[in-house]
Amino acid sequence: TKGIRPLVAGNWKMNGTSVSLPEIRSIGHGFMSGLDAETDALLCVPATLLWRAHEILSSTPVRCGGQDCHARPSGAHTGDISAEMLKDAGASHVIVGHSERRADHGETDAQVLIKAEAAWLGGLTAIICVGETRGERDAGRTLDVLSRQIAGSVPPGATSKNTVIAYEPVWAIGTGLTPTAQDVAQAHAHIRGELAKKMNAEAAKTRILYGGSVKPSNAVELMSVDNVDGALVGGASLKAADFLGIAEAY
Ligand code: PEP
Repeated sequence: TKGIRPLVAGNWKMNGTSVSLPEIRSIGHGFMSGLDAETDALLCVPATLLWRAHEILSSTPVRCGGQDCHARPSGAHTGDISAEMLKDAGASHVIVGHSERRADHGETDAQVLIKAEAAWLGGLTAIICVGETRGERDAGRTLDVLSRQIAGSVPPGATSKNTVIAYEPVWAIGTGLTPTAQDVAQAHAHIRGELAKKMNAEAAKTRILYGGSVKPSNAVELMSVDNVDGALVGGASLKAADFLGIAEAY
């Protein structure tokens, strides 16, 4: 979108150990060498890698993020990680409401909204994920689902600085399937309209990323669609060459 600097964000999910540090180094080098000065880059690694990823990437333009945070800043929540902790370990962003969290942990729109607020309180930008399932698409309910998710998951007070939206059709994640350019255009325009109801003029400046089977081979087409302001990349972000190839699509 005109006037919006694109963001290419990687989501490593539950992948990566110290063996992956050279890959993180390569990603940092790729962006440092000015390969893509037009694009912001972010790597959302597992929390166990965050500190070390931050050390490696701090001398590069690539920033680090978490993949989820707890709704509270601290307390008796064994196994959970707060936004403050992610921030302290070097994160600038955190993904909330990824469809895998919604499916695996039963996270609701209301919980995602609270997590986004927790992210802000912890000093992080929230990447709020929305997207329909295959069944919802087949039933012609995609735009309704997006309306409901935006209404329910995006807190009042969202701005183009503290919030990024990721449109990720659930059926396109990790499947190699992608929507057509027209479908992506329709979904993103719809999301922009729904955001305007919450954010007024800020909606026009807010990044809306596309996610779901983005690869170097389809990135140029997907990234050239109206209202697509970058990508959230799962599988292809694990390999530096692929991630850099996607960033070059701009
Ligand atoms: C994701 O889950 O955020 C994602 C986009 O995954 P993939 O790129 O592997 O489809």
